[in-house]
Amino acid sequence: MNPETTVIVVAASSIGVFLAVVLLAYLGIRGRRSRLRVIDQLGHAKVTLDAAFVNSSMATVVLDEDGVALECNLAFATLVQQPQSEVVGRQHADLVLGGYTGRQRVENAPRSGSKQREARYKLESGIELWVSESTTTFLGPDEQPRTLMQIVDVSRDRKIRDDLQRRVMHDGLTRLPNRALLGDRIIQALIRGRRTGYSTGVILFDIDYFKTINDSLGHHIGDQVIREVADRLRANTRVADTLARFGGDEFVMLCEGLEKPADALVLAERLQHLMREPFEIGNRSVALTLSIGVAVSNSSDTPQALLRDADLAMYQAKELGRDRISMFAREMREHVADSWALEDQLRAAITGGDLRLHYQAMMDVKTRKVVGYESLVRWVHPMRGMLNPGEFLHVAEQLDLLTDIDEWTLRTASAQMADWLRRRQVPADCVIGVNASARNFVNAAYPSLVKGILEQTGLPPEHVVIEITEDAVLSNTDRADRIIQELRSFGVRVAIDDFGTGYSSFSQLATLEFDFLKIDQSFTNQINERPGREIVFALIQMARALGLTTVIEGVESEAALAMLVELGADLAQGYAIARPLPPEQVLQATDQLALVNGDVSGSSDDTAESVPVTDAAF
Ligand code: GH3
Ligand code: MG
Repeated sequence: MNPETTVIVVAASSIGVFLAVVLLAYLGIRGRRSRLRVIDQLGHAKVTLDAAFVNSSMATVVLDEDGVALECNLAFATLVQQPQSEVVGRQHADLVLGGYTGRQRVENAPRSGSKQREARYKLESGIELWVSESTTTFLGPDEQPRTLMQIVDVSRDRKIRDDLQRRVMHDGLTRLPNRALLGDRIIQALIRGRRTGYSTGVILFDIDYFKTINDSLGHHIGDQVIREVADRLRANTRVADTLARFGGDEFVMLCEGLEKPADALVLAERLQHLMREPFEIGNRSVALTLSIGVAVSNSSDTPQALLRDADLAMYQAKELGRDRISMFAREMREHVADSWALEDQLRAAITGGDLRLHYQAMMDVKTRKVVGYESLVRWVHPMRGMLNPGEFLHVAEQLDLLTDIDEWTLRTASAQMADWLRRRQVPADCVIGVNASARNFVNAAYPSLVKGILEQTGLPPEHVVIEITEDAVLSNTDRADRIIQELRSFGVRVAIDDFGTGYSSFSQLATLEFDFLKIDQSFTNQINERPGREIVFALIQMARALGLTTVIEGVESEAALAMLVELGADLAQGYAIARPLPPEQVLQATDQLALVNGDVSGSSDDTAESVPVTDAAF
């Protein structure tokens, strides 16, 4: 029997006598025999209806106008945990105690028609239930209104629904409110703020270099770090505020009731300080820093605007070097509008062929022969012309496009060198230098990517030198060491680039088995004066002691080149030798160089006696 039918049947049961009277009156015009038959049928119907009411597994109660139970079935008595006899005569609201939180109380229910709602019962035993109540009102035999109420225990469904709701609004890993719930809370906070006159602040935290944690320690530890960061932030969140997981390694703290914008900044500083304490994960200690963006509402703000402003401020903190707090300022919108335009264009450039490689020759300082080329990426911007890496790689980094650019560079440079070698346009042992971004280099998959590309382009690995900055290897020495070893195991060599611009020391680098040390041009600029010259000399000596080949960058004069010979440097690179040039021009320039230096055979002659680019000589 479906619920509606049950409602009708039970209603009929409770007012059966009344119906019988009405029907008999109506049937009074009929003959006595047929009247007796109808009485018989009605009696039978009432018995059936009574049985249905009594035996129904659906909790059912009939209430009078004041909500007092007139009769109930066993299922109802069981539901409210009272003997049936105790139910009759009691107010329904008493039976379900103060926990009765249905939106509309029975006595306020309309006098006719049916209604359904969910209510929360708190029984005398203390048990709490969520129920679905269906009520139907009708007039009783005494012309007084009656309510037939049927109740279904929906506690289980409700729990499932609540769980689901919680999951939809919360992040599974940290159990923090998610972006959707945060949006709701910001709306509420802004409304309250408009009423009270206090400001609402949003503090956006993004973990610095979190991918490196994932890459070096594994995702499992990465997850734990996210949980620990969430726990520490949560422990420092005021009750009235909301902490949410905004995305991967981003958290947002919504702060209400700020008297002045600077209050948000003070809070951000306190949290930044607290997060510097390393996290103990298993038997490891993981230290991390955060880039933090702060935005405080003004009266016209929407949640989206507030979050976007905090995001812009956070990006500025990243751009300025990470591990810092940046407060949103209106000018950021314009600056970022610019870089957003750059973002779209950069994506298009990678796929659309607007990237180019230029090649800069490296020369043996003693023999003055070109032994290799460093490949340098350029972007031919449709409006701004040729852009150097410094002008767009930071955008690529933010957009996670560095991997694509690195891969493109490696593929293009390898194909170019393979082609030059096939055509015998460069010495048979010429090498190509390819820069790798820090993040890609420490990725465990990097060596196999290199291997795959070399196989595809047909370039033997001994012609490749991967160039990597010192900071990249030092941020994760163990990992870098493994990658270097793997690359070297199949013949690719590794150079530490721009040495001297970071914070590494020789003793730190000595643990790594790389091949070349490229000394930054900031040292080369001082090579013709005294302390500068001594420093370069000392660097060259130390590199020698470690068995490394030195490459001096930024050599801009013939005098500097001559000095390098005296100082015992191996190779040099710089404008005094050749500028970075497109592939079609670079060989021409190298040939001219060979002529100037008296190498009459030229670099395109494979019989020319070129410096063997071995570990020792390069
Ligand atoms: P940045 O200093 O620029 O913030 O660099 P980042 O390495 O921290 O990278 P970014 O913030 O751009 O990206 C966060 C990364 O976090 C992306 C993704 O690989 C990783 N990540 C996102 N969600 C999870 C997660 O639930 N668990 C783990 N382990 N990693 C995640
Ligand atoms: Mg991050």
